[in-house]
Amino acid sequence: MSSGNAAAVLTAADLRERVRSTGGAPPDCDCARLVCPGWESVSSPVGEPLLERLGSLRAPSDDEPTLTEQHSAGSSYWSPNAPIATAFFPYNRCEVWLCRRCARGFLQYTEYGGYYVDHRLREIDPSLVV
Ligand SMILES: [Zn+2]
Repeated sequence: MSSGNAAAVLTAADLRERVRSTGGAPPDCDCARLVCPGWESVSSPVGEPLLERLGSLRAPSDDEPTLTEQHSAGSSYWSPNAPIATAFFPYNRCEVWLCRRCARGFLQYTEYGGYYVDHRLREIDPSLVV
């Protein structure tokens, strides 16, 4: 059965293949305003027409993706050099979006706190994907 692109579950290899490296994207593209090497809060999710949804890192069968984070030496959740560890929090619940024009990639998910929701976005640096 073909489930179509909308339900695509992506792997680390997909990110490395499909997402343009940070250095190769034109600095004057419309997506440049979104660029943030680490996680940032955005007022609302960013989507069409600027970005095109590539798929999700969350497996449909995974009702409760782990909250464990994976880090390299000295990195933390907010670090610009934090690994994009697709099997770990928060990447395991992210949607992957590509700029329609330059193929720069972005991760987005929504953090649910006790009294708030917070939309978060991070640019994908393919060299950080593990
Ligand atoms: Zn772009």
